[in-house]
Amino acid sequence: MGNVLAFRSKDFLKWADNVLEGILRRSPIGTGVDLITKDFFNWATRNSIYPLHFGIMCCALEMAVASAPRFDAQRFGVIYRSTPRQCDVLLVNGPVSKKLKPALRRLYDQMPGPKWVIAMGECAISGGPFYNSYSVVPGVDQFIPVDIYIPGCPARPEALIDGFIKLQKIIKDNKKGLLTGK
Ligand code: SF4
Repeated sequence: MGNVLAFRSKDFLKWADNVLEGILRRSPIGTGVDLITKDFFNWATRNSIYPLHFGIMCCALEMAVASAPRFDAQRFGVIYRSTPRQCDVLLVNGPVSKKLKPALRRLYDQMPGPKWVIAMGECAISGGPFYNSYSVVPGVDQFIPVDIYIPGCPARPEALIDGFIKLQKIIKDNKKGLLTGK
């Protein structure tokens, strides 16, 4: 009885993961479940993009405008969240200083997978006007893998929405089952 009570939630998750690994993921059951659910989960993922609400400089204003009524990014299922735990897209805009770099990397690490990164504007792509500055990282892809680059100084809201549509296409093209990863 004591042993059962001492079965902590961490141990339970480990046990459950092992069971899933053995019974579902490596057997025809997992393949079958993925075959049935793969399209649905992929459709849901690409139509519910939750970017982290994180803006550094002027491009952040364009990011905000993209969600305002005129451009209405929500019609594509794009809803900003303020915690990395609820996000699947890290949308970087503005120059990343060397001092900010570890904090941004930490935010990326805190996001659950599958996750993607968008570099919006010249500053995020290459440092922009601050390229070769002693204090600015010359592009966010120096320390985080980037999936979509949106050029411009600033990048316009239409360009950002186009970037979201391109990301949806990437998600669709890389369709994978949740259990088998195939
Ligand atoms: S790319 Fe241009 S508009 Fe965007 S943050 Fe940098 S300087 Fe500002």
